[in-house]
Amino acid sequence: MIGAATNEKIDTHVPLLIVGAGAAGLCAALAAKEAGIQPVVIERDAVPSGSTALSAGLIPAAGTRFQRAKGITDDPQLFAADIQRKAHGEADAVVVAAVGKGSGPLVEWLADRYDLPFDVVDNFNYPGHSAMRMHGLPTRTGLELINRLRNAAEANDIILLTERVAERLLAEPDGRIRGVEILHGDGTRERIGCAALILACNGYGGNPDLVRQFIPEMANALYFGHPGNRGDAVLWGEALGAQLAHLGGYQGHGSVATPHNILITWAVMMQGGIQINKEGRRFCDESRGYSEHATDVMRQPGGIAWDVFDARIAGVARQFEDFRDAERAGAVLTGKTIAELADAMHVPVETFSAEWAEVENLKAKSGQDRYGRKFTPGQRCVAPFHAVKVTGALFHTQGGLAIDASGRVKRKDGTLFPNLFAAGGAAAGVSGASAAGYLSGNGLLTATVLGRLAGRSAAQVSH
Ligand SMILES: Cc1cc2nc3c(=O)[nH]c(=O)nc-3n(C[C@H](O)[C@H](O)[C@H](O)COP(=O)(O)OP(=O)(O)OC[C@H]3O[C@@H](n4cnc5c(N)ncnc54)[C@H](O)[C@@H]3O)c2cc1C
Repeated sequence: MIGAATNEKIDTHVPLLIVGAGAAGLCAALAAKEAGIQPVVIERDAVPSGSTALSAGLIPAAGTRFQRAKGITDDPQLFAADIQRKAHGEADAVVVAAVGKGSGPLVEWLADRYDLPFDVVDNFNYPGHSAMRMHGLPTRTGLELINRLRNAAEANDIILLTERVAERLLAEPDGRIRGVEILHGDGTRERIGCAALILACNGYGGNPDLVRQFIPEMANALYFGHPGNRGDAVLWGEALGAQLAHLGGYQGHGSVATPHNILITWAVMMQGGIQINKEGRRFCDESRGYSEHATDVMRQPGGIAWDVFDARIAGVARQFEDFRDAERAGAVLTGKTIAELADAMHVPVETFSAEWAEVENLKAKSGQDRYGRKFTPGQRCVAPFHAVKVTGALFHTQGGLAIDASGRVKRKDGTLFPNLFAAGGAAAGVSGASAAGYLSGNGLLTATVLGRLAGRSAAQVSH
């Protein structure tokens, strides 16, 4: 994994090497290019996609002009407080402050300089956010995000070397990175030297051994992220003596349509939908967050649950292409009554009807249920009703290399490596040590904002 740099012949030399062409790698490359450095990005796939392409592409950002235009009041401190509240105070306060502060400028930078047509989602909010701050592109897909970032990189003559896997870091005994050994698609190898290196190769969701080791509760879960994210940053970091943090943190999701494997947006819960199990019973507070909900769903009989909602909520969910795909795939069942829906779902009608009636009653009187979930009259559902069978999944890991606010990787003793940076899923995130600490959007937040910061800082040492 790590070679002694002094003995290794370098084939070619570049100022800045970036491993991974997801949101983190491409934002880093754009920022470095603006700072006057020509970055070279190494990507394992023929066309960059990463977990970024699988996401809904929603980036949380505070204090943007998109928010102001819609009368939404927000600021970086409020956002940082939301992140830390969800992370139970476990996230690195310096990094949290940096991403909170950098989020608004990041979205405006991508919109104004690279023509990414963001707007702010204002017809539902995600759990834990005290302001509407999710910014998305017209299709609400990560595929659109990654394609637009790649187009921006190409338009700015950034060198993107695809079908190349970074296999080995070449480092001096003091941790200074000299380069990376690359495996080409045709089996040949090349050693590229660099003045600075940014690891943007995401986490270890695609490495079953590491998942079993660090997050055993998800060892048998469906992995819904990019399979090429095999934990290289963590393995290299460990070998280099880097500080690793929060390896038990991850983004789970409790609402993936099964057997279709399509994400059903959590908007269906936040708008007033509920989840029931095969026995027709509810089993927890759906408004806490989708991440920790993954294991709750997996613990139900058969490892599944049903999302239940109405036509109004389906209308909100339809802004997501994934939801429209789920409808096209036949994943969304419809019933004119709850009894008819229960029949289609093959769940006990009496239990399900009683649960449904109780929740509707609580909504009417702004009540609170046995799990502590609070309802409002605006969440009431009327026929026709819909249901989707879902399971829990692992989306991406949040633990990784500990960094400072500029993305520079820390050694075990807290000192900084001279020319090694990390961003996105390769770095320790801002979600603390468990799935429950993940605030919606933490993934792309740290990919894009820290990618940009790491690109800028790496440019300073790339000479
Ligand atoms: C279904 C789903 C929905 C999500 N929705 C959201 C959302 O709406 N909002 C949000 O904030 N987050 C969301 N996330 C999380 C988000 O997608 C990730 O946190 C984010 O994309 C990480 O970006 P990244 O650049 O670090 O990694 P990636 O986008 O995964 O990019 C890493 C790249 O590195 C490459 N790579 C890996 N190892 C090597 C190697 N050794 N050599 C060369 N290349 C390598 C990979 O091929 C990949 O292209 C979602 C995730 C999933 C799975």
